[in-house]
Amino acid sequence: MDLIFFGMQGSGKGTLGKAVAKRYGFQVFETGAELRKLAKEDSELGKKIKSIIEAGHLVSNEVVMEIVENFMKNLEKGINVIFDGIPRKVEQANTLNALLDKYDRSYRGVILEITEETALRRLTTRRMCKKCKHIYAADYHEDTCDMTMENGEKCEGELYTRSDDNADAIKTRLEAFSKETVPAIELYADKMIKINGEPTIDEVNIAAFEILDPILNN
Ligand code: AMP
Repeated sequence: MDLIFFGMQGSGKGTLGKAVAKRYGFQVFETGAELRKLAKEDSELGKKIKSIIEAGHLVSNEVVMEIVENFMKNLEKGINVIFDGIPRKVEQANTLNALLDKYDRSYRGVILEITEETALRRLTTRRMCKKCKHIYAADYHEDTCDMTMENGEKCEGELYTRSDDNADAIKTRLEAFSKETVPAIELYADKMIKINGEPTIDEVNIAAFEILDPILNN
């Protein structure tokens, strides 16, 4: 079964997604990360995506859905997926659901709930590692990443503030969430697993695993 992760920007869905993926063996499809990769390309499309992301607007459905369809087409059977950052609109939800049906995949939604105040506080203070993409909150004061990699070495990547974590883009992104994403979330009401995203990362993980263990038969 696949999981579709929802949550306001800054809710920690990326972080929880990774923890859930590790515990139950999911592959994560992170739409924003895929788009940031494309935005680095020196092509017309890359430049266009970069400016859209930096302004906090949504990339066109056509581009996003093409990336998702390509991903699903090439997916090996038996691999369960966490979809992070898709769908962000009703239209994307309809296309994604049609794709899930086409590839005969069952799914549930997971939503991490936080207030807008928490979202704003987290987005204006968080930093990301350039190398491993780990996200650090305001209480981490070093300039390099202290994650341990698979080979046992420290990552030590440089930390930076995402270009769309600025006041104007944050406002635009939160508006897009309430106007465009909330109606899409409502379509999954009867399949939705709700988790409180306000506490610390460890507390959120524990609460999420308690809810997900029986559902995912761990
Ligand atoms: P995220 O990393 O999920 O916060 O996404 C970063 C940015 O990528 C968003 O602000 C959008 O500009 C773009 N993006 C990510 N997912 C989507 C999507 N499903 N539809 C359109 N744009 C998206």
